Amino acid sequence: MTDSLAALKTRLADVHNLHMAEAVLGWDQQTYMPPGGIAARAEQSATLSKIAHSLFVGDETARLLQEAETQNDGLPADSDDARLLRVARRDFDKATKLPEELVIETARVTALAQEEWAKARAANDYAAFAPRLERIIDLNRRKAEALGYEDRLYDALLDQYEEGMTCRDLDPIFAELKAATMPLARAIFARVDSVDDSVLRQPYDEGLQKQFAEDVLRDCGYDFARGRQDRSVHPFCTHFSRGDVRITTRYQSNDLQPALFGSLHEMGHALYEQGVDEKLDGTILAGGTSLGVHESQSRLWENLVGRSRGFWQHYFPQLQQTFPAQLSHVAAEDFYRAMNRVEPSFIRVEADEITYNLHIILRYELENELLEDRLSVADAPAAWNAKMQEYFGLTPPDDAHGVLQDVHWSMGAMGYFPTYSLGNILSVQLWERALQAHPAIPQEIEAGRFDSLRGWLHDNIHRHGSKYPPRELIGRAAGGPLDIKPYARYLQQKFGEIYGL
Ligand code: ZN
Repeated sequence: MTDSLAALKTRLADVHNLHMAEAVLGWDQQTYMPPGGIAARAEQSATLSKIAHSLFVGDETARLLQEAETQNDGLPADSDDARLLRVARRDFDKATKLPEELVIETARVTALAQEEWAKARAANDYAAFAPRLERIIDLNRRKAEALGYEDRLYDALLDQYEEGMTCRDLDPIFAELKAATMPLARAIFARVDSVDDSVLRQPYDEGLQKQFAEDVLRDCGYDFARGRQDRSVHPFCTHFSRGDVRITTRYQSNDLQPALFGSLHEMGHALYEQGVDEKLDGTILAGGTSLGVHESQSRLWENLVGRSRGFWQHYFPQLQQTFPAQLSHVAAEDFYRAMNRVEPSFIRVEADEITYNLHIILRYELENELLEDRLSVADAPAAWNAKMQEYFGLTPPDDAHGVLQDVHWSMGAMGYFPTYSLGNILSVQLWERALQAHPAIPQEIEAGRFDSLRGWLHDNIHRHGSKYPPRELIGRAAGGPLDIKPYARYLQQKFGEIYGL
């Protein structure tokens, strides 16, 4: 290794460590920090973030990066060092393309916007939030222009979360997804009541929910010696190293689903981070490669494993023992149907597998129209409601349940919702590949064993961290590009059977 490469790695490790320290503060803020800590914590996080940013974009980084690139020109393309240089260059160029005044203005506008959004939603007053939304859309346009794109403004924003993905890739995928999902959704909506999920909504002791979920996580391979689970309002997974990958969940005393499936979901993210190769730890290649690939892991464990018949063949008797008063009279098959109930809903969060993607597509379409000025901010509520009617046959009772429902625009974030659907699509492709390699996986799951599945995911996805960009990693692991057909088949087969279609 050349001197400049070694010096560059040291500098990048400093930046990485500052970000990880910031992540610890973020975890604390969302789990144990008393409310009185908020103002000071915001300052502490901002200071760390500022130091990390200036260290990263500084002239010394530019010089070391350039020297290291020149001196290591002949490295094998697949070597860790060549890949590290590629990612460092990409991140450096992105970070230095954004003008400082744009970054500062975005931080200022969104800090205020979140409060204003919360008030506007509570008062169902879209007009109060509209001017702020206008500013946020304009800031996102300027960001996209600064980052650069070939075709569409949206491409520049999406690339931050899913490198190399564009609207040109997404449009046909989403068109196929709509074609596959909407007729199925309509047919199911006509017989929503044929599946009853009331068994899930009974009083369930929170301590017992926690114990049961933790036993399941342990069986699946989540390493509690390198992780922990705590409570938070919004569940998340965070990591500070491969030796410390934490998840959070929320408990509802009258509903089994949020803690159980939320835990499996966050565990899917955590297995990815716990599984990154040791030699990548602490480097710029630690951590999952994109939001879409990350989501493929969480959705695979939540849905393909956690909402499958085979999984509950093993776990339902244990769950019945844990909650005999609630479940001893319930048949396993009815429990399986209940957790897979489909219904039209106003809000994306915790939507079922069929309607989830329609919420994503709705937002993708509106964000594009707003960014490209084909839709005005004033007309956004009506456009939202029209799409809700088209996709779900529902009209929101008010803007609080419509265009104002979600916090993300007020945070300034646009362009990343599609990664949720990409994760869903990819989860089935990977599942099928894992089954080709290990045909006994379904029987193992019926016996509460997950080694073959987790091992395959580790070898093909987890251990690589962000060494490969998503398109390349998907090609290697799935044996080809992103393909919606396996996912469409899976939805049709699973829900066609449940609903007798
Ligand atoms: Zn997730």
